Formats: sequence, structure tokens, C-alpha cells
Amino acid sequence: MKQNTNRRDFLKILGATTAGLAIGSQSVFGQARRTKRCVIVGSGLAGLAAGFRLKNAGWEVTILEARNRVGGRVFSHTMPDSGGLICELGAEWVGESHERVRSLCRDFNLPLQKHQFNDFLMQNGRVSRPGGWNFSTQANTAFDKLLEGFEKLTPAQQRMLDRKDWWTHLSDAGFTQPDLILRELADSTDFGESIRHVSAFGALAEYAANEEPEVKGKTQNQMDYKLTGGNSRLVNELARRIGEANIRTGMKVSEINQRRGIVTVKAGDETFTADACICTAPVASLRKIKFNPPLPAAQQQAAERLIYARIIKNSVLYENRFWKEEDFSMVTDMTSHYYFHSTQNQPGSQGILTAYAIGEKADVLASQDDTRRMNIITRDLHDFNDDAPRLAKGIASYAWQRDEYTEGAYALYRPGQWFGVRPILARPHLKVLFAGEHIADWQGFMEGAIETGEAAAESLLK
Ligand SMILES: Cc1cc2nc3c(=O)[nH]c(=O)nc-3n(C[C@H](O)[C@H](O)[C@H](O)COP(=O)(O)OP(=O)(O)OC[C@H]3O[C@@H](n4cnc5c(N)ncnc54)[C@H](O)[C@@H]3O)c2cc1C
Repeated sequence: MKQNTNRRDFLKILGATTAGLAIGSQSVFGQARRTKRCVIVGSGLAGLAAGFRLKNAGWEVTILEARNRVGGRVFSHTMPDSGGLICELGAEWVGESHERVRSLCRDFNLPLQKHQFNDFLMQNGRVSRPGGWNFSTQANTAFDKLLEGFEKLTPAQQRMLDRKDWWTHLSDAGFTQPDLILRELADSTDFGESIRHVSAFGALAEYAANEEPEVKGKTQNQMDYKLTGGNSRLVNELARRIGEANIRTGMKVSEINQRRGIVTVKAGDETFTADACICTAPVASLRKIKFNPPLPAAQQQAAERLIYARIIKNSVLYENRFWKEEDFSMVTDMTSHYYFHSTQNQPGSQGILTAYAIGEKADVLASQDDTRRMNIITRDLHDFNDDAPRLAKGIASYAWQRDEYTEGAYALYRPGQWFGVRPILARPHLKVLFAGEHIADWQGFMEGAIETGEAAAESLLK
């Protein structure tokens, strides 16, 4: 999910935006020091971070949110009949490198707790404990070499790598077939689809970020923390500080018009006028918004090419924590794919194990009703503990590929798209700026959503 390059490129693009706005703003904001207004589309972390920054700078902010709740893909869930156990149906982990999330949590006094895991492996019914399975020496050596070489890639080499898929690149680097199969099981949970569909540049950038000196040895692939009491606490705190009156839920934006330096945003029967707009709609939603003047052809085409990964999260409540280890997780070759303990450090004897499935597996699970889904997920644990079906008490699932507004969990940059699509989507359209996970340096993460929201707000403030 994480890409560690092009932060500068993104800021450069926003710098260009600022220049454009500065020219326009002389006529719009010119004479009087009247309060400036911004309409923000979407109340996910990108929209909230932008709104918070602008409000603090004295702007009038209106956030229009299509759903009946704030937070978008941050979606903490309190499991019924569990004594208040909480799991995440959307974003889960905060990484050691996620400076903005961690800093906001510090500012708002929201505690983070450890949320690292030690993976078991279940393959063809055989369960191996953490430390009891590994890639071959040949594959580990090849992988280290790839990581070492990452920083030295020239821009031309980066683009070439972007055109390749991660599976092929690993195969070319010397991974044996068993190594590739294992890598597919493990890495596909990061990207939400088979690594045969993922840009090799995007993948390598993600793993290279874990090698940066500040975090090396401290991070587990940026799966390090979560907010005590649920990640939605960050969303709720931002929303509280922006002010409820400034956030309108149930307001699906259908049109964004710009004329003579003024932006008019239509949602339902209402229109909202502003000096600028920050649009954080995920691409599936963006495509449905009518822009006038229209988005440039290149941007429209980029939006048509980008798809989001299929991920379903299935949190199953069990009568007891039969997996024993607090940091239990297990990569499997079953439909349920990846299990992890969601109630680490939460009190009580009951516990939640979440099954995180991607791609076709996510589609299979999404097609079942809750009862059938729970049967599959608990039965897939048979070789680990055949008591799981009997101990299961309830399930909460969310299939993001069926979500009306995202049609997937997070953006999937396929071969050639990291450089061929992402920068185009980040371009401002006159006084409409774009933000959101999909165009972030930390793509696929809360951190990326916040960074792009804040950067868009900053560029208006310059
Ligand atoms: C299953 C899953 C697992 C994840 N795991 C992690 C993780 O472990 N760690 C991590 O950091 N991140 C994770 N993420 C990613 C993280 O959730 C996102 O990167 C981040 O929350 C995206 O924020 P955003 O503001 O860009 O988009 P969103 O949260 O999607 O916000 C966009 C908002 O715009 C609204 N909207 C859309 N169209 C319109 C419209 N026309 N009018 C008005 N409003 C509209 C949407 O309803 C939504 O609320 C995960 C996501 C998923 C789904």
C-alpha cells in the first residue's frame, strides 16, 4: 500500500496549484479581507484534515459528505454482545513512519497501542509457528539486493520498473516457485489483489520504506499501532474540532461548476458557493461528478483507468481466545486468507479474529450471507483449531468492493500506472484541488489521506 517516493513530486504539483490560485485570488480575494470559503467533498481523513487546517487558518469550511456518517474508510465497529469489543472494518494499522497520524493523536491526546503481529503460516493444511517458516536463502538474498538497489534507481529505471508486475520482478530476481507462492500469499494482503497485478515499482517502494534508518527494526511493514478505542476516534475528534455545523452528511455532490473564479458545488437540491473546492472523492465517485468546465481529457482517462482493490474484512466474535497469543496472526492459502487478532489488549475472555481476504477470495466471501460466510471462515481454521465453528458467536463483515462510493478498499496501481496515472489525478483543475489516499505518497494509508488533505489546504493558504 505504501509508496515512499514522489512526495516531492506531489508537493511540486500542489506548488503549481498554488501559483494558479495566487493569480486568480487577486481578483477573488483581492480588495476586502473577507473570510475565504472552501467546500470540501468527502469527510474521510483527507477531507477532515483539509477542513481542520483551513478552519484553524480562519477559513469558512463546509464539508459535504454523501454517507450518513463521517470517516469514509475509517470505520470502527463495536461488536454486539461482546462486552464492548471493538474491531476495525476499514483502516487498521498505523505505521511507525506515519508521522501525521501519530502527531495528530498526540495533539488530541488519543493513545495509540501496539498492534504488531507474529505470523503463523497455514499452507496445504500444515500449520507452522512464527519463526518456523521462511523464504529460501536464495529468495532472502535476492530480496535484500532489491531493497538495497531501490534508492539507486534512476528516474528512467523507476519508470521501467513501474511497467513490470511484482510477481515477474521477483521471479526475474531469482525467487523460486515456492517462494513466489508464499510471497503472493503474504504481499497480496498489502495490495488487496494478486501481486501479478501490482506495479513492481509500487511494491518495492513500499517495502523499501521499512528499511529507512529511522524505522528500521521498529516497524513491521508499517503494521505497528492502532488507536485505543478504535481508529474512528481520530475522525470524530477532527470532526468535533471542525464543528458539526460545518459538516453536512447525506449530501452527495453531483456537480462542481467553476465560473469567473468562483466554485459552485451542487449536492441534492442545494448549491454551495466558495472560493475553492477540495475534492477527496475516491475515483469511482469522482467519475460520477459532473465538472463544468469538464476535467481535461487526460484526467478523465486517468480516472477511468484506476481501479481499487477488492478486500473484505470479516470480524468473527468467539467465545474464547483459542489462538492464545495476543499477537496471533496467520497467513493461509484458504479462502479466508489472512487472520489476525483484533482484540489485542482489549479486556474480556471473548475475542475477535478478523479474516482479511482479497481479490477473488474477497468476491467469493462477499457473495455469501453472514451465516454461510461465518461457516467458511471458521471452517477454514480447521487445521489450526477444529473447535472454531463451535466457538463462533457472531460476525461483522464489510466488502469494500461493494461499497457504493469506493468500489474497492484502496487504489490499485497496476503496471505502468504509478507514473502513468497517479500524477495526472493529482493535478488541480482551476480552483478545484484533489486530495485523498489514491494520490498520496503514503498511498493506501490513513497517513496518505491526511498528508494530501493538509497539503491541499496549505496550498490555499500560501
Ligand atoms: C479494508 C481496508 C483496510 C485498510 N487498512 C489500512 C491500514 O491498515 N492502515 C491505514 O493507514 N490505512 C488503511 N486503509 C486505507 C485508509 O482507510 C484510507 O487510505 C483512508 O481512510 C482514505 O481516506 P480518504 O479521505 O482519502 O478517503 P475516504 O475515507 O474514502 O473518504 C472519502 C469520502 O468521500 C465521500 N464521498 C464520495 N463521493 C462523494 C460525493 N459525490 N459527495 C460527497 N461525498 C462523497 C465518501 O463517502 C467518503 O466518506 C484501509 C482501507 C480499507 C478499506
